[in-house]
Amino acid sequence: MNIEKKRIPLKTNIGYLLNKPSGYSRDAELQLEEVFIEPDLNVWDLDVKYRFSRVQEGILLQAQLSGRIPAQCVRCLCDSTVMVTTPIEEIYFFPEKVLEATDLAIPDDGYIDLGELFRDYLLLGMPINFVCKPDCKGICTVCGQDLNLKDCGHTDNRIILEE
Ligand SMILES: [Zn+2]
Ligand SMILES: [Zn+2]
Repeated sequence: MNIEKKRIPLKTNIGYLLNKPSGYSRDAELQLEEVFIEPDLNVWDLDVKYRFSRVQEGILLQAQLSGRIPAQCVRCLCDSTVMVTTPIEEIYFFPEKVLEATDLAIPDDGYIDLGELFRDYLLLGMPINFVCKPDCKGICTVCGQDLNLKDCGHTDNRIILEE
């Protein structure tokens, strides 16, 4: 893994859609081998297909997002990565249509930060009980040995850590 952080701005302009008639849509896609999303997420094999549609309340974003993100195995605690695939659906509201604190508003300059959105969705889509491999043996509860690497001899007491 390359530890050098590749910061690529993922801002995109949706301002041009505001004057389009309701129902107008535009498709786009984005593929990046590696990207660092502020403040803390490195993503590999990012693949996004998305559509912006002009709707009555603002701009509707529908996307299919996938990317590989860092994950720690709950059994052996090793650092690994996991592929997350998730649909996205969000409306960016005209400022006067914003009703709740969680509503996304169309920024004044018309540029939205897709990175922030992708980050949220990828982290939410991450499996809660991630295991590095289906037969991961976990760590020994007696001595802490990674049982995938070596059998420490405490096998009778072995309990696979499940969280
Ligand atoms: Zn593991
Ligand atoms: Zn042991």
